[in-house]
Amino acid sequence: MASERGIRNNGAAATPRTTARSVSAAATTDARPQVRPATEGWQQKVGPDGRPVLQFAEPQRGKPPVHLADLTPEQRTARVIELGLPGFRAKQLSTHYFTHCTTDPARMTDLPAAHRDELVAGLLPPLLTEVRRLRTDNGDTIKFLWKLHDGALVESVLMRYPGRITLCVSSQAGCGMNCPFCATGQAGLTRNMSTAEIVDQVVQANAAIAAGELGGKKRGETTPERVSNIVFMGMGEPLANYNRVMDAVRTMVAPQPHGLGMSARHITVSTVGLVPAIEKLAAEKIPVTFALSLHAPDDELRDELIPVNSRWKVDEALDAARAYFDATGRRVSIEYALIKDMNDHAWRADLLAQKLTERGRGWVHVNPIPLNPTPGSIWTSSEPAVMREFVRRLEAAGIPTTLRDTRGKEIDGACGQLAAAE
Ligand code: SAH
Repeated sequence: MASERGIRNNGAAATPRTTARSVSAAATTDARPQVRPATEGWQQKVGPDGRPVLQFAEPQRGKPPVHLADLTPEQRTARVIELGLPGFRAKQLSTHYFTHCTTDPARMTDLPAAHRDELVAGLLPPLLTEVRRLRTDNGDTIKFLWKLHDGALVESVLMRYPGRITLCVSSQAGCGMNCPFCATGQAGLTRNMSTAEIVDQVVQANAAIAAGELGGKKRGETTPERVSNIVFMGMGEPLANYNRVMDAVRTMVAPQPHGLGMSARHITVSTVGLVPAIEKLAAEKIPVTFALSLHAPDDELRDELIPVNSRWKVDEALDAARAYFDATGRRVSIEYALIKDMNDHAWRADLLAQKLTERGRGWVHVNPIPLNPTPGSIWTSSEPAVMREFVRRLEAAGIPTTLRDTRGKEIDGACGQLAAAE
């Protein structure tokens, strides 16, 4: 946990260094310190230009084996035919995987016994090996730690809420975006996950739910439960692994037995703000929910908090978010981790409200979330009264705002804590 002693006040005491002209009056009355991002206990990787390194290209690694969930239905059929079996076996295999969440040949009694092992070996190779499973929140939250074929570690977090079950999935092992407040970024990018590695997190979670492992089920409830919502808020930057993430989304929304039969609007893709990829996403015509991790409305602070801001500035990211709304009609989420004395000043709430309102009304809502301090972080979450004031100002400006809860803290399973430390 970050402690008071660790808070470094290296900014001017009374006036934040950034002053957008229209909010400068508010800034001078906001007599709280300005803490600037700095790391403690670990070193942020910087390039020859002294800026935090951004990794878009992944280091070369062996590819995971090809799996049914990497393939289109036509390719699955072709693969089964290659194995010397009739094409319709592909659909049966898909049903076992996506609907029954199983890869166990013994349970596939509608397949000829002589060929089951071969079909499973050819199309359902194991991708995620469970290393550990941790529970908290009275069993309503489960964190899974998975090992991939090459030893890379990733995590996913399963959460029951009233009326929905959400899985927070990883899209990369590690992350190349180097945000100093996020545990995943500290070790850099190991590699992109394959489409099937992404999808398999959901299938494995569904298997755990079916086995009765997630707490909180209503007594007497007999309808089988599944993951209803997916958030790409685990490890990695989903839009830096664009094609595989989009193939995974297509499989999540494909009707059973070809996919998981989920609703696109229940899938949230969250990004640091890779503007060209946001534009591409808007053109896909798959109405996923889009979330932008903004965390600061002013470039001066955001340059330090979200290093990719050196490529695409606050205004460009917000324009792309607004264009996403125009293309899909889906209300956009702005993620904002409230960090004590760093980005939680009243003037920043006002500047954020102003920047959102400039781009119209009804297209966006804001999700502030108290920062989860990560190991080595000198920062801490905002005070409750400060958070309330931040929310109040956004609401007063007519911006729908929901303070998010932080599930799974005790098991390092909360937002930004997923570091897969072993
Ligand atoms: N790379 C993507 C998705 C992964 S992170 C993105 O940045 O959006 C999911 C969310 O958790 C992001 O909004 C991210 O900024 C936030 N987050 C990261 N570290 C956090 C922390 N320590 N406390 C609270 N939220 C954090």
